[in-house]
Amino acid sequence: MNNPMDDSAVDVAIVGGGPVGAILAHVLAREGFAVMVLERETPPAQAVVGVSGFDGRAIALAEGGRRLLAGWGLWEALQAQAEPIERIHVNLRGALGAAHFNADEEGVSALGQVLDSAQMAPVLLQAARDSGVDWRAPAAYVAHEVDASGVTVRYACGDAEQRVHARLLVAADGAGSAVRTALGGEVQGRDYGQTAILARVEVEHAAARTAFERFTEEGPIALLPMGGQRYSLVWVTATDEVAARLALSDAEFLAQLGARFGMRLGRFVAVGARSIYALRTTTSEQITAPRLVILGNAAHALHPVAGQGLNLCLRDIRALLGELSQAQQEGRDIGGAEVMAAYAASRAPDYAKSYPVMDVLARGFTDAVPVPKLFKGLALAALDALPPLRKRFVRQMMGLNG
Ligand SMILES: Cc1cc2nc3c(=O)[nH]c(=O)nc-3n(C[C@H](O)[C@H](O)[C@H](O)COP(=O)(O)OP(=O)(O)OC[C@H]3O[C@@H](n4cnc5c(N)ncnc54)[C@H](O)[C@@H]3O)c2cc1C
Repeated sequence: MNNPMDDSAVDVAIVGGGPVGAILAHVLAREGFAVMVLERETPPAQAVVGVSGFDGRAIALAEGGRRLLAGWGLWEALQAQAEPIERIHVNLRGALGAAHFNADEEGVSALGQVLDSAQMAPVLLQAARDSGVDWRAPAAYVAHEVDASGVTVRYACGDAEQRVHARLLVAADGAGSAVRTALGGEVQGRDYGQTAILARVEVEHAAARTAFERFTEEGPIALLPMGGQRYSLVWVTATDEVAARLALSDAEFLAQLGARFGMRLGRFVAVGARSIYALRTTTSEQITAPRLVILGNAAHALHPVAGQGLNLCLRDIRALLGELSQAQQEGRDIGGAEVMAAYAASRAPDYAKSYPVMDVLARGFTDAVPVPKLFKGLALAALDALPPLRKRFVRQMMGLNG
């Protein structure tokens, strides 16, 4: 590599320009911080499945997340491509008992919104650029060093190595975070032995603005409405079944899907390209270090069972924005130990609540938990029949519990 050149200085350097890096960069720049994003991929490459959250997966954005994006001036541009979710139907294959959630009952116009992540990418990138973010891509993180005045980040642009000096470094480089790895902290992982098959499908009789989650012995099948007859499918499959399912013809795939999902929407009539995503939860024990915050999927990559991943990340962004803005106003060092500790403490209660819920939902209804189906069905029926319980659950899922 060439010698370091083009040294720059900013307030915050963010490694990773996925959904979290892009949104954080935009909100910080709006507050007057000088921000640089280092993104390994150029935008078209981000459309490759598995490379980043901008890979075309459908994202269910909960109402709480939508409100945050609206407050940050991002919702208006995203709204045009969003499909509202007004109802959610949850059931269990091979057992009675179902739970229904309804926007009217919760006093909101929608429980959530479905967004195509590939369509989100240009909107968020443009918003970040319009706010004055210095967006570098392709720019891959190499290393960082902390000193008394800040942190120096080295990154690779093609053959050249460059440096940026910042008061704070944010690792938003996804589940396999190189920054987190360089730190050497503990990471908790759980391999569910499941792989998600993602595809767009069409059904015979769509139920407008209704999302479905059907728990099966292998894992959940989720259908998110995309408008008209179209749904985004996340079919969580036992990993040793995936190769066989991918090898099926479209007609065979649709027939198998119908057999697992049932006839609630009539027949499945069309399927687009299928892609896969191995499901593994990783959570970082440590989310701060001197002059460093680990954010988004780099801090917690959760099972997509209840579509909570990005929603949790948006609450990370809200908390970090609050701490940094307050420190800046009070003339304190935004990368100082006090700010790092305050941010970590502010996120702990949300993580303590969210991680176990995702784990229970991911495993609880599969055969991995040896409870008779009858009882699992009863659990769903109880959720449906007890309005206070249902309300608490749905408000937690909407991200409206604080
Ligand atoms: C199948 C599936 C379905 C999901 N559905 C939902 C849902 O319905 N609702 C929901 O809220 N969440 C959902 N999620 C979770 C959501 O996709 C993630 O929470 C979100 O993508 C996290 O964004 P991120 O920016 O933290 O990480 P990522 O999206 O992984 O982005 C990380 C970025 O960092 C870049 N990068 C990586 N390494 C480097 C490096 N060394 N140098 C520079 N840049 C680097 C990458 O190129 C990438 O752009 C789902 C996840 C999956 C897998």
